[in-house]
Amino acid sequence: CLSFESTSPKPQTGAISSTVSNPRKMAVQKSSGHSRGGPLLRSQANNATTPRPVKESGSGYDAKLVEMINSVIIDQSPSVKWEDIAGLEMAKQALLEMVILPTKRRDLFTGLRRPAKGLLLFGPPGTGKTLLAKAVASESDATFFNVSASSLTSKWVGEGEKLVKTLFQVAISRQPSVIFIDEIDSIMSTRTENENEASRRLKSEFLVQFDGVTSSSGDLVTVIGATNKPQELDDAVLRRLVKRIYIPLPDTNARRLLLKHKLKGHAFSLPDRDLERLVAETDGYSGSDLQALCEEAAMMPIRELGSNILTVQANQVRGLRYGDFQKAMTVIRPSLQKSKWEELEKWNREFGSN
Ligand code: ADP
Repeated sequence: CLSFESTSPKPQTGAISSTVSNPRKMAVQKSSGHSRGGPLLRSQANNATTPRPVKESGSGYDAKLVEMINSVIIDQSPSVKWEDIAGLEMAKQALLEMVILPTKRRDLFTGLRRPAKGLLLFGPPGTGKTLLAKAVASESDATFFNVSASSLTSKWVGEGEKLVKTLFQVAISRQPSVIFIDEIDSIMSTRTENENEASRRLKSEFLVQFDGVTSSSGDLVTVIGATNKPQELDDAVLRRLVKRIYIPLPDTNARRLLLKHKLKGHAFSLPDRDLERLVAETDGYSGSDLQALCEEAAMMPIRELGSNILTVQANQVRGLRYGDFQKAMTVIRPSLQKSKWEELEKWNREFGSN
């Protein structure tokens, strides 16, 4: 019960659809809100991304899998804007050149300028890799496929291979597309002797599908893998993820930006001197650690209220102070061991693109 557009150009509402699916799910779910490019690019957006007809390969499509991809893997969460991401300027620049500009100006990015189809974001957890991938999708007005390792393995035991194949077909039909594979190391790790057959097949299928989109110059499908264990990735996968961008723990500047960003809209009285102390004391914290720290600090004035919490006026709750963060730091500690971080830096020097 699947319908494929095999001869006519792809309609805007997605060529692969399950006839049993809810019509809302059949619509192309582009990254919403910040669509048609970011502020930087909106004026330059052209219609260079005219969809290609989708070729029917004729083998093994499964309505259940298409439905699952439509409802679970295509990301429908609010789009992330470029400016929501603090710091990471080098990574942003690389992604702009590799993914965003080529979708806006296909005519310029041909031949030697043909963009890479695969890239790896590697670095400690909680440093903004997922955020970056989401922002790339919304800036390039692409459909965002958020694939976690678990959705390819545990949930769909035995069907991983078929799911990968269907995933790429849906991505081609809904291009421009960004396929984001979180924790890519756990499904694409170095082959081992006792690797089970299903995972070996899944990996091979991924490589076949990836090579398919790479060899077809008309397809705008970018695969972005994320990992904090790049050293465990299979060589064949690594070779295909030609750009490898290190997403480090935030440095002093990035932590200042992140803290200001997280505290925006909250009443707080942190003189510059205190903010600088906080920036210095949070060395080693990731972006998500800083988020957790701000959340914990923000609870301090609330906890002081005791039973008054039910009657207090919202504007009478005191603002945040430096002491709140100091207390919060005893609870929220950096989640990464320094030794692991050094290992990543070493890998970056050897294999990274920046
Ligand atoms: P990763 O994919 O690297 O593990 P995420 O992108 O999921 O990390 O980030 C987790 C959370 O940490 C985000 O939802 C955000 O709140 C915060 N965060 C991390 N890095 C940044 C950043 N550079 N700018 C803004 N928020 C960040």
